[in-house]
Amino acid sequence: MTAKIISGRETAEHILEKELSKKVEVLKTKNIIPNLVVILVGDMKASASYVKQKEKFAEKAGIKSEVRRFESDISEKDILSEIDKINNDPLIHGVIVQLPLPDHISVAKVLNSIHPSKDVDGFTPNNVGKLFLGEDTLVSCTPKGIMQMLRISGTDLNGKNVTVIGRSNIVGKPVSILCQSENATVTMCHSRTKDLNHKLSDADVIIVAVGVPKFISGDQIPNGAVVIDVGIHNIDGKLCGDVDFDSAKEKASAITPVPGGVGPMTVCALIENTIIAAERIHSA
Ligand code: NAP
Repeated sequence: MTAKIISGRETAEHILEKELSKKVEVLKTKNIIPNLVVILVGDMKASASYVKQKEKFAEKAGIKSEVRRFESDISEKDILSEIDKINNDPLIHGVIVQLPLPDHISVAKVLNSIHPSKDVDGFTPNNVGKLFLGEDTLVSCTPKGIMQMLRISGTDLNGKNVTVIGRSNIVGKPVSILCQSENATVTMCHSRTKDLNHKLSDADVIIVAVGVPKFISGDQIPNGAVVIDVGIHNIDGKLCGDVDFDSAKEKASAITPVPGGVGPMTVCALIENTIIAAERIHSA
């Protein structure tokens, strides 16, 4: 079996054209232009490249985006006061802080200071709590993008077995909740999981967010499973994921590539969240 490729790039373009552009047009008729601020601290190359992708997609969607750049020695207090200003600016609908931050700044403190209505990364306790309770909220971008890819590729999760590898707050935990809300039976795996291969053996869908290059290979994937590869690594100038794509594609029925898989969907979900935040702020 050679897997169908679930292209995040194409799915993001599809959502942009069919859903986001229309929503932006409606907002513009009311003189509302969704506005995203990205806070970028320091000069990490990878962060700068992620931010560029966000700016590019925002432009395509017809929304405003602005990057506020700060030196890596900025104090925690100054970052918090910048976020406070943004929270109180009625012309800004969404704010994200590009991670990682320098060690002297508390990520938790900074993220928790973002007003939940502008928390378009969906990281604040308020939005995470609502997700857990199944309430309408701003859902964090990578899990949201994964769910959209599954939906648009026609993968119905109802009654399916989903194995998630990785339990991070930004990917593994939220995506497992979203899959359960679509009536999947979810098995969560992590570094202490015993007999991972057994946990994979009856999976219909496998979501891998481990942060180890080519961690999962084809021999661990049951025939016909759908594989979502969240990982992204630069190995000697070549990008790869947490899944060994070449062997996995011979076993899976569908698989996301790296690059061009989950990454573009994360960006698309961020822009969609900014549009949703603008709609909500102006209808409140
Ligand atoms: P993370 O916070 O580092 O979490 C990694 C998870 O993997 C942890 O839960 C860890 O278990 C588990 N793990 C580590 N080694 C394992 C092993 N040998 N067996 C089973 N589980 C193991 O990672 P993350 O932030 O979720 O990111 C994961 C990957 O996705 C990274 O490559 C990251 O760059 C990428 N990523 C991509 C996007 C995108 O948009 N494409 C977005 C976010 C992240 P413990 O909890 O037990 O330590």
